[in-house]
Amino acid sequence: MTTHAIDEQASGHQFQGQAIRTLLILGASGDLTGRLLLPGLARLVRHGKAGNLALVGAGSDAWSEEQWQDRLKTSFAAASPAFTQNDDDDGEHALTRIRTESTYHQVDVTARGALAELIAGLQGPVAIYFALPPAVSEKACATLEPEDLPEGSRLVMEKPFGTDRESAHRLNSILEDLVPEDHVHRVDHFLGKATVLNILGLRFANRLLEPVWNNLHIESVDIVFDEKLTLENRARYYDGAGALRDMIQSHLLQIMALIAMNAPSTLHERDLRDHIGTVLRASSVGRDYRNTTRRARYTAGTIENRDVPNYVDEDGVDPARGTETLAEIEVSINNDRWAGVPFRLRSGKAVGRTHKEAVITFKPVNHLPDGFTGVDSPTRLRIGFGPDTLQLDIDVNGPGDVFCLDRATLQAELNASELLPYGEVLDGVLSGDPTLSVRGDTAEDCWRIVEPVLAAWQADEVPMDEYPAGSDGPSSWPDS
Ligand code: NDP
Repeated sequence: MTTHAIDEQASGHQFQGQAIRTLLILGASGDLTGRLLLPGLARLVRHGKAGNLALVGAGSDAWSEEQWQDRLKTSFAAASPAFTQNDDDDGEHALTRIRTESTYHQVDVTARGALAELIAGLQGPVAIYFALPPAVSEKACATLEPEDLPEGSRLVMEKPFGTDRESAHRLNSILEDLVPEDHVHRVDHFLGKATVLNILGLRFANRLLEPVWNNLHIESVDIVFDEKLTLENRARYYDGAGALRDMIQSHLLQIMALIAMNAPSTLHERDLRDHIGTVLRASSVGRDYRNTTRRARYTAGTIENRDVPNYVDEDGVDPARGTETLAEIEVSINNDRWAGVPFRLRSGKAVGRTHKEAVITFKPVNHLPDGFTGVDSPTRLRIGFGPDTLQLDIDVNGPGDVFCLDRATLQAELNASELLPYGEVLDGVLSGDPTLSVRGDTAEDCWRIVEPVLAAWQADEVPMDEYPAGSDGPSSWPDS
């Protein structure tokens, strides 16, 4: 291998496989496509990537070409307002070409042969984006044979990947028969490339961190994703999932793995995903679920002057399901580096403040010289997400009494991607780089970690607490 090729591989930018010619979006009339996928594509194209691509949409509704063009115009404009101002740069031209040449097809993708027939009429290799309800995606994949897919084609699967370990395994088996594993992209839009690299750069490029990054020096790690958003018309999906499946199983465990894994020797997808897989295989939730997990559901409240109804009264919610809107689990990583360090993963909806960060709490010093006062909280390193930031809370001899230590905060802004999260997802798909996608064995392992918790909750082993929408969580949770 040439030095150049090694460099490219190490930086994770090596193009793998044949260039994708057609992006086929199944579920083109759906919410994800309109709100996130098409704006992400627009941003990508405007950045000069994917200029030569053909875009084809499919849905079960009989949409006219005019309806499809309207959707493309609106969604593209959402990502790049300049689109409406007749900008004449190359990116804008490419976007206009993609839009005007794009076609929409009415297809029931679960009908035997229907999807294969649609693909046969497209120029390959094709990236097939399954923006469909999960059960429909599985049925659609099951109608395909390997020979239906042009050489080099890629399959993009949305979250949730299955609803439990068994269904994820079943889906993996279907996909495995169709294309090689590194041609399957299991989307985790939460972990943009910049965020992954920010965590790895921080951890592995600083000699001062890695020696203390273990159970000798770290007390606990908290990974939190609390948001003000409520159901946003997605009750049908969310009520069947809940906070544990929706956020923790899919996204927060991946962040935990990046924080806890050993250093890979390169940033190539295989090295990186091997290390992520290894740390997740060592992870589990302690069986004393009343102590290692908590769940809650929001009641009526107010967020930013907006009245939010009781969760169970929301349209599309079935109270009998007992779906949680706030979940917390304590994960143990059973290896030498992390034994005894709790990793607390928490995510909630309708919470009063947006809070997205990983907090690494260090142990106190073994002995503080007598005479110093003022130390009342431990040293903490905070990694904020979206926008990515870094904050070190540390005790120093600040102004005033030199014996009294003050809390100082060192802050930095981290690299921000110019692409929208779904632009990054599509960039990975179109450039043949599955680094950001969750590998099949890891997706199953994440279900293995949360499944016993879901079963314990189903059996009511852990009480369902409540919190008013707009609050920080249940008042009985001391740290909420
Ligand atoms: P929607 O219900 O809004 O859209 C589903 C789409 O699937 C529609 O275009 C629908 O077509 C199409 N469809 C359903 N059945 C068939 C069929 N038999 N043949 C062809 N098309 C069919 O769902 P979302 O867009 O919200 O979600 C899609 C996927 O993305 C899900 O897996 C979801 O979990 C995931 N996701 C969604 C997010 C979001 O914010 N929306 C965020 C993260 C993940 P038609 O309307 O014509 O019936």
